[in-house]
Amino acid sequence: MSVSKRPLPREDLRALEGYHSPQLDVSVRLNTNESPYGPPLEFVDAWLERLRDVPLNRYPDREARDLTDAIAARTGRDSREIFAANGSNEVLQTLLLTYGGPTRRALVFEPTYALHSHLARITGTALLVGERTPEFGIDVTSACALIQAEKPDIVFLCSPNNPSGTVDGRATIEAVMAVAPGLVILDEAYGEFSDWTAADLVTAETPLVVVRTFSKVWSLAALRLGFCIAPPWIISELERVRLPYHLDAATQAAGIVALEFGEQMEARVEMLVSERERLFNALSALDRISVFPSGANFLLFKADGGGRALWEGLLERGVLVRDFSNWPGVEDCLRVTVGSPAENDLFLSAIGDALCEHGGP
Ligand SMILES: *Cc1c(COP(=O)(O)O)cnc(C)c1O
Repeated sequence: MSVSKRPLPREDLRALEGYHSPQLDVSVRLNTNESPYGPPLEFVDAWLERLRDVPLNRYPDREARDLTDAIAARTGRDSREIFAANGSNEVLQTLLLTYGGPTRRALVFEPTYALHSHLARITGTALLVGERTPEFGIDVTSACALIQAEKPDIVFLCSPNNPSGTVDGRATIEAVMAVAPGLVILDEAYGEFSDWTAADLVTAETPLVVVRTFSKVWSLAALRLGFCIAPPWIISELERVRLPYHLDAATQAAGIVALEFGEQMEARVEMLVSERERLFNALSALDRISVFPSGANFLLFKADGGGRALWEGLLERGVLVRDFSNWPGVEDCLRVTVGSPAENDLFLSAIGDALCEHGGP
């Protein structure tokens, strides 16, 4: 008998769980914060038209010049301040490969987006964990004390925060930037749904990186496109670390064309924000449910009678939301993505029913 020759992965990765967001086949899917609508039909036509002219035998534009120019124009920045990649997740990974890694440490404030700590682990970056307040905000005094004591190479912020929807104010971000000795990465995947963005805090000399995505507001989750806004000297470092030709021609074209539909995107954001407020008010009125204020396209709420039972009750009624009930810091909480008005109605009627059945009077 031969001895097994299956090489083991890196020791520090063996205990690692993959990043999961369970998918189930149900009629109302409100669990992954996608847009309820596909991009406008005119977008699809314009994109396919553009693709016809792409020479498929040639590598794509390595610097994604036209795309970064278009993003720069849309965000009112210089092209040298923009780096685009396959989803904002690849932007975050590139940031960690460049500024994290063995001997370096990254600070996250939990509960927050699980991928930040996951990417830190797979890049060998040590993790420091700070805590959010019971309302999921960042307590400036304790956060700054922690940063000054630990001197992390990277501080992650997420505003609006996933999964809570909490928006950090300008004063919080400025206070963190003032004491952070290294890079501050602000994940603004949901920034367009919030009433302010920190992008204008990025200046030539501030080590602040604001990360955005086309997955949510631009309805392009299937294509994988994200970007960051940062000082040019940070962007140049990222350009050296990313894979050559990392962003394929179809994705580059999609991003350029999507930005021509800015008005439609803004109209959708407005509709989703007003639906979010409607859902917030309806959930607030329910007994045994506490809902947290959100600046994103989702709402986190806590079920006093048990989060898991309510999640199952919703699923039995054909509505899938995200179950956070056994996550540290968000026990008994569920997160619902704001869907179309019809989906939101179905969710509200399902949760009303489910609450009556589970532990009702
Ligand atoms: C959805 C989400 C993203 C998006 O990732 P992509 O790779 O761009 O799809 C990034 N950050 C947060 C906090 C998110 O919730």
